[in-house]
Amino acid sequence: MKLFDLLIPPVCLACHSRLDNAKETICGECKERVALLAEDYCTKCGSPLVDSICESCAEHSYSFDLHRSVYRYGDVVQSLVHCFKYNERRKVAGYFGSAMRARAAQTDEYSGFDCIIPVPLHRVRRRERGYNQSELLGRELAKGLGIPYRELVSRRLYTLSQTRLTKQQRERNLEGAFRLKRSADLAGKNIIIVDDVFTTGTTVDRISKLLKDKGAAKVAVLTAARA
Ligand SMILES: [Zn+2]
Ligand SMILES: [Zn+2]
Repeated sequence: MKLFDLLIPPVCLACHSRLDNAKETICGECKERVALLAEDYCTKCGSPLVDSICESCAEHSYSFDLHRSVYRYGDVVQSLVHCFKYNERRKVAGYFGSAMRARAAQTDEYSGFDCIIPVPLHRVRRRERGYNQSELLGRELAKGLGIPYRELVSRRLYTLSQTRLTKQQRERNLEGAFRLKRSADLAGKNIIIVDDVFTTGTTVDRISKLLKDKGAAKVAVLTAARA
């Protein structure tokens, strides 16, 4: 036990109840409440189906070949995502990273990939925040799956927050936002993009389109949660 644990007892990062084991991230109760997205999902984009129909695929024609989320976005996952902003980010990245590795290992859908890339932040935003949660998850997953972590794409524009924009505004905002790094050779490559939350999928789709346009053979997306 570290000195820090003696001074401040370890707590569940979701509900803040006391943890018996400092190595745990969330308590037993929260573990039971967290909902896996394990069935009735679209085989392409991983969204929950409504009457066997994928509303996301009806609305978008995604450029990526496949997306899966480990969890449905609920209060436990929301609290954990929130912890990225604070000092617990390594623990959260480790927790999500191992859940994503386990999800990837469930089927052969994520085998045969060449590298893992994050959703990049613009360097100014990255400096302001001090971290990129997608990068933390990408590094964890790359370690877990034993494939290289690469930063192939950079974010060109200082894009506004996506959440309050309409679909059209969001797309215009993302137009040309991503750029391939000069050293990247994607011909025939299979690439996994990693992020924390999949909402509309617009951002990862833009990156997927760029990768495909530059010669990538296959692009899969893996996220911790589907909003
Ligand atoms: Zn808890
Ligand atoms: Zn779908």
